[in-house]
Amino acid sequence: MSFDDLGLEPKLLDAIKASGYENPTPIQIEAIPPALAGKDVLGIAQTGTGKTASFTLPMIQRLAKGRARARMPRSLVLAPTRELAAQVSENFEKYGANHKLTMALLIGGVSFGDQDAKLTRGVDVLIATPGRLLDHFERGRLLLNGIEVMVVDEADRMLDMGFIPDIERIFKLTPMTRQTLFFSATMPPEIQRITDQFLHAPVRIEVAKPATTAETITQRIVRVPSKDDKTKRAVLREVMSGKDVKNGIVFCNRKSTVDVVAKSLQKHGFNARPIHGDLAQAFRTETLDKFRNDEIQFLIASDVAARGLDIPDVSHVFNFDAPIHADDYVHRIGRTGRAGKKGAAFMLITPGDGKNYDAILRTIGKDEIEELKITSSFEKKEPRKSRSRDSAEKDRTEETPKKGRRKASPEKERHESRKADDEAPVESSSESADRRRSGNNKKREQGGEKTVGLGDHVPEFMTRAVAS
Ligand code: AMP
Repeated sequence: MSFDDLGLEPKLLDAIKASGYENPTPIQIEAIPPALAGKDVLGIAQTGTGKTASFTLPMIQRLAKGRARARMPRSLVLAPTRELAAQVSENFEKYGANHKLTMALLIGGVSFGDQDAKLTRGVDVLIATPGRLLDHFERGRLLLNGIEVMVVDEADRMLDMGFIPDIERIFKLTPMTRQTLFFSATMPPEIQRITDQFLHAPVRIEVAKPATTAETITQRIVRVPSKDDKTKRAVLREVMSGKDVKNGIVFCNRKSTVDVVAKSLQKHGFNARPIHGDLAQAFRTETLDKFRNDEIQFLIASDVAARGLDIPDVSHVFNFDAPIHADDYVHRIGRTGRAGKKGAAFMLITPGDGKNYDAILRTIGKDEIEELKITSSFEKKEPRKSRSRDSAEKDRTEETPKKGRRKASPEKERHESRKADDEAPVESSSESADRRRSGNNKKREQGGEKTVGLGDHVPEFMTRAVAS
């Protein structure tokens, strides 16, 4: 099946060609023809499947005819996060390169005045997060009764974020005659109810979950003997220092943990930056750009911030925390091993993670995930709990190598650091001293450092019970 067979007009085919895509993905094959025919579509698909193009392409074709009127957008795409909304807008720019469609983005962090001016002139495509859209609506700056096509992207994430009442309200503000294209990775009852209520005889399309099909992802767990975050961070550093690690995303369950882990990694010489919803939009955009351009090697992320991000070529995913929702595991590891490339996903498992780990195994249909046993020297550097603070401090100072230290210029910490009072403190700088590695793996290249491997013995510390 080629793009030529889907009923798309030549101008769109040219834009697709310019994007470098050769063949449509399964969701594109199934969703584009009914969407072009004006039918409602219910797509059960995750990011990475090509779902964005499956709604963007037919929308552009439909919107090519007709003109926008002031304050009455002709189509609406709702996305759960600013990043995802921004990515959808990039897709419209890419595929709509040969069309003259106007677009506005209503998301936090983007100037209200500029977007309002665009709305006044009239837009064909309005891309928004639900809260920001309702803000504009309530100020009387926007009418939704001209909407011809409405897209809800990543509805399951909207549910997690508490946006479902907003979505219902927005549906009711748009005309009954609209076409609806609705995408969700999963179909919990609340989402099913919304689709039953607002979609008209939708064509239902389900594409396989990447995690159950992506044989290209090597999955491993690393058992950590303690729930203590400091021990976890030490294990994480070991795993991240693996030979094949080109770049990666480290996922944490909480924003405060993201901040602490990012700071700690920076202090240990890793080229890492945090990304989560409480950071300034400009910082998040810059971080993503730098990550894409290989100026940053590791993103430390929360699920919401990372969801839907279009980041090519991630070699590794590290789950610092086992995700609370098993579905998030699927999303997280789906950031690697894309498009047939090889990827690896590691997850730290502490004694308290049993329930979450079992749920993940059920979701991915496995009995177990192979364990990576790290042969490491770091345990010597972990002060024993029973020792006095002073002697532990002394050890740390003594163990910090004096020669060969190399400070990889850690990214400037311009993010709005939140007080991570629910977390273990970040190590002191005397302790940190970049002893493990520099941002570009210099030491390892010189063969002077122990790295991660499938070691054949369990280090003593791993079997030791540590009070948390
Ligand atoms: P999405 O699921 O929409 O986030 O898309 C995931 C990635 O696949 C993005 O990097 C897209 O640019 C890319 N993509 C979308 N459609 C195709 C296609 N037909 N062939 C190759 N890559 C694609």
